[in-house]
Amino acid sequence: MKKYDVIIVGAGIAGLTAAIYVSRAGKSVLVLESTMQGGQIINTINIENWPGDFKVSGAELSQKIYKQAEELGAEIEFDDVTGIEKIAEGFKVVTEDGEYIAGAVILAVGAEPRKLSEKQTKDAGKRPISYCATCDGALYKGKPVVVVGSGNTAKHEMEYLQNIASKVYHIHHDDPIPEDAEAVFVAIGRVPATGNFADLVDLDEHGYVIAGEDCKTSTPGVFVAGDCRTKEIRQLVTAAADGAVAAMEACRYLG
Ligand SMILES: Cc1cc2nc3c(=O)[nH]c(=O)nc-3n(C[C@H](O)[C@H](O)[C@H](O)COP(=O)(O)OP(=O)(O)OC[C@H]3O[C@@H](n4cnc5c(N)ncnc54)[C@H](O)[C@@H]3O)c2cc1C
Repeated sequence: MKKYDVIIVGAGIAGLTAAIYVSRAGKSVLVLESTMQGGQIINTINIENWPGDFKVSGAELSQKIYKQAEELGAEIEFDDVTGIEKIAEGFKVVTEDGEYIAGAVILAVGAEPRKLSEKQTKDAGKRPISYCATCDGALYKGKPVVVVGSGNTAKHEMEYLQNIASKVYHIHHDDPIPEDAEAVFVAIGRVPATGNFADLVDLDEHGYVIAGEDCKTSTPGVFVAGDCRTKEIRQLVTAAADGAVAAMEACRYLG
């Protein structure tokens, strides 16, 4: 089993920033990412509130930070982390494709879209369910679609689809899905992606990893950064700040 000083789970802004700090501290670091680098902002055309980059897309910003981490020596693998276990040498990190050992771990798994209710999933039947109009909207050109959700994201998804689809229905969580809609676009919020780590660290009632500004979890040697942590403001700058803190604390833990 390959061994690293620090393994970071998630290559969003929190995880990639943590990778930069761990690499610069001279420790070996592996970042494991289940889909692609960038996390939630990957399809965002204009990033707001990121100091120093007035007009930048999410893809550009995350690519720059990814490259920076890689050039500093961070290894990045695309693999889903399915569990983490405390062992004598530190932690065994289990992925879909293998196993690794780490002296310390940083959870930077962010948040994922909240799924449709059981009732609406059943109602949708075989019709495609999408969580991103920008990614999948073009597939339904001239066809009727439905957007589920009541917040700002649902409003933006509707505006985007109105230029593509023949009709855009708007329904709320648990309303019946119109029969003629050919695809279901879901925008009902996000939940922390912490399900695989419930046995490793304490989570609050919503699934966020409980930790303060020092990013230390209930398990010594496991740190948390970004949107999956209990905190007030979930933004790119706060995710990056957590990444820096979690990395420095992980290095201090290793000594
Ligand atoms: C549409 C949208 C637009 C936004 N726009 C802005 C903006 O303009 N400005 C701003 O400041 N904030 C914005 N935000 C908020 C911002 O995106 C988040 O605060 C930030 O992305 C959090 O970063 P993160 O690294 O904590 O988590 P995420 O970005 O969620 O990254 C987590 C990563 O971990 C990976 N992962 C999860 N589970 C596993 C696992 N088991 N194994 C391996 N990898 C895993 C995920 O695939 C993901 O890549 C936006 C959010 C959304 C949804």
